[in-house]
Parts: sequence; C-alpha cells; structure tokens
Amino acid sequence: MALTERLEIIYQDVIKRNPGEVEFHQAVREVIESLGPVLVKYPDFAEAKIIERICEPERQLIFRVPWQDDKNVVHINRGFRVQFNSALGPYKGGIKFLGFEQIFKNSLTGVPIGGAKGGSDFDPKGKSDNEVMRFCQSFMLELWRIIGEHTDVPAGDIGVGGREIGYLFGQYKRLTNKFEAGVLTGKGIVYGGSQVRTEATGYGCTYFVNEMLGSKKNGFKGKKVLVSGSGNVAIYTLEKVHQLGGKVVAMSDSNGVIHDEKGINLETIKQLKEVERRRIKEYCDSHKTARFIPNGNIWDIPCDVAFPSATENEITGKDAKKLVKNGCIAVGEGANMPTTPEGVHVFIQAGILYGPGKAANAGGVATSGLEMQQNASREAWGFEETDAKLHQIMRNVYTLCAEAAEEFGSPGNFVVGANIAGFIKVARAMTAQGLV
Ligand code: GLU
Repeated sequence: MALTERLEIIYQDVIKRNPGEVEFHQAVREVIESLGPVLVKYPDFAEAKIIERICEPERQLIFRVPWQDDKNVVHINRGFRVQFNSALGPYKGGIKFLGFEQIFKNSLTGVPIGGAKGGSDFDPKGKSDNEVMRFCQSFMLELWRIIGEHTDVPAGDIGVGGREIGYLFGQYKRLTNKFEAGVLTGKGIVYGGSQVRTEATGYGCTYFVNEMLGSKKNGFKGKKVLVSGSGNVAIYTLEKVHQLGGKVVAMSDSNGVIHDEKGINLETIKQLKEVERRRIKEYCDSHKTARFIPNGNIWDIPCDVAFPSATENEITGKDAKKLVKNGCIAVGEGANMPTTPEGVHVFIQAGILYGPGKAANAGGVATSGLEMQQNASREAWGFEETDAKLHQIMRNVYTLCAEAAEEFGSPGNFVVGANIAGFIKVARAMTAQGLV
C-alpha cells in the first residue's frame, strides 16, 4: 500500500536510523500504513510528532553476557533490552525482539502496560540445564539494573520458558534482596506465577479466531486446522481448538511436519514436548496413522483454519496463496509477525478472516498483566476465574479491532483495526504526558 508523503518521510527516516533492522522496518511499515486516516481525524497527533516519537525507543541497553560451559570454557554472548514506550505503564514484553509491535499489542489488551522487548544471541539448543542457568544468571547480572515491577517487566518468548524465568528470577532476588514477584512474568505457579499463563497465548488466539468465525455465524465445529510450531503457543492452541470442536491435523518443529487426518493427540504432544523435550517426528512412533514430512511445508496441507505459531515470516506470499486456494477461511497468528507483507496482502485481498499477531496473540501478555495484578495484591486466582478474564479480554480485543476498522473505513480488516485502536490509546497517553 502506498504511504502518504508525510508517512513515507517518517518511514524512510526509520530505515536510515536503523540500517539492517529489516524486521523492525517491516513492523513499522505495517503500522504506519494504517495510520493515514488517523492523522486526518486527529491532526494534533501529527503536530506533536507522535508517530516519529513512537518509532524511537525510549531507552536501549546492550550488554556483555560472559558464562562458562560444563567444561569450564568461557563464552561471550550479548544481551539486549529495548524499552520502547512507557506511555501506558511499565515496559512489558518478552525476552526476544520486535518491541515495536509490543506497544500496540499491549495497548489493545486494556491492561496498563507499556511496550518493550529484549533478547540475546545465545542459542539454548544442546545446552545443559546448568549451562542455561549460568547464562541466565550472567544475563540478569546486567539486566537487573533497568527492570523492576514498576519499571520494566520482562517475560518469556521463543527459547525462554518457565525454566529460564525461574533462573532469572532467582538471580534477581539474590541481587536485590527482594522477593519482588511482579518483576518477571511467566513464573512457576509455586512462586507467584499465574494460572493460565502457560496456556494463555494459545487459548487467547483460539478465542480471537472463534470471535472472527462467530461474526460470520461460523465456529470451530468440524473445522480442519493447521498449527505450525510445537511450543507453548502451538500446544495450547491445539488443546483449545479440540475443546471447541475443531480438529488439528498437522503441527511442526524446525525439523519437519507431522500430519494425521485423524487429528493430533494432545497428550502425546505434551509428553514429547513439555516433559521429554524431544523432536516432533517421534510422535509417529506411537501414532501409526501419522506421517512425518522432513523439512515439509505445513501450509501445503489443505485446511479451514491456520494458526502460524512458530516464528516470524513463516508464511510467504506463495504460502498464503496456497492456503487461500485450498479453502482456508481464517488465520490466527499465534507467533509474532509470522506472515510476510506479501502474505498479509494476499489474505486481505482474498477477504478471509485474518487475525494479525498483535491482536490474536495478545492473550499471552494480557495474562502476564493478570499475573502482575495478582502479584501486586498478593493473591492467586483459580484457573477458571483467570481463564474467564482472558476470554473477556480477547472478546474486547476483537471488538476494539472490528470497531476501529469499521470507523476508519476498512471494515473486516483487523490489521488496520488493530494498528489504529492500539495506536490511538498510546497517542492519547503520550499527548497527555507532554513532550517526553
Ligand atoms: N512474548 C510474549 C508476547 O509476544 C509475551 C510477553 C509478556 O508476557 O510480557 O506478547
């Protein structure tokens, strides 16, 4: 889509100031493509240069992370934290990247949290528990200076789960001499974690797609579903889709795809991935109707609903065309930015129900927000109560996106809806807080 001259200038400036950061450019472009009509309606946002300010992180930290492996060999990695925007609350987001997206996603949840992201170039594959622990401790030895329950609250993302959050929390506690539960989310239930946090992104994404389907008087009953990935998000998407009457016929990991038209068995996947940490192809050992496709492309398999829940840019323009041609009617992005701009264009043109990650997967960070609320009040809510809150939040996210899309002239376009609804709230808060 063409940008207005003013937005094009902003975009070119972002490219110039952040050379090589192609995924950041992609995220910025997608948001500002939606904002033309917003600037027409709210000229004061343009005058206060809200978009230019949002595109520049408030603070960025890059730090050295030295650690020793099990043979006492010294390794040096690099850690990052990008504190993007605190207009709505303390910085909040996973230990990965794409902090820009997080601002708008967090805004959509209705929970008062700003946007941040971080990460490192450490590859956890093949590392022992002790090595991961030493790395996490060294990482926190720097990070602790700039985080806190009222400042910045990191959480997990790809490669950072409950184990890592535990090690990070233990080290933070030791350094600060404080049991400050709200400084990290995704904690274990026994030390301040929230019920449903593990399930939240997958459940939330399924709730979002269920709302989209519901708007067309449709639902999951009898639907054939693809879920890429086999991490947290994918596993709990599988669980919720099955609860709602759909059938997940394929999942994947970085080695390949498993396909079973009879439906993928949840318990086997949980055992393989959560307990034994093994590869997905071993699923076929105990399920004879399933086949493993080494290095296969999951999007080749015909489906009604697709949940890209593995990683960024996993659906190309070509994949999107194939999905549409094969009759896919809805896409819910469990991962962050899993569809390339060409792919997004294909989905929008085809008029299918397309839930972009910043709306569809907002349930994860929203439940982190619920974890923070419980930590602040020293409460622990039950599973059902927490799940009901998550469900309501996802209904609200859906409604916000649908209404903003309608109001700004792109009915049914949840990309435009999510970008505009997420942006306006942040822009209002920034305007109210003056030039900061
Ligand atoms: N990394 C997740 C996301 O992309 C969760 C972030 C959080 O819980 O803070 O939204």
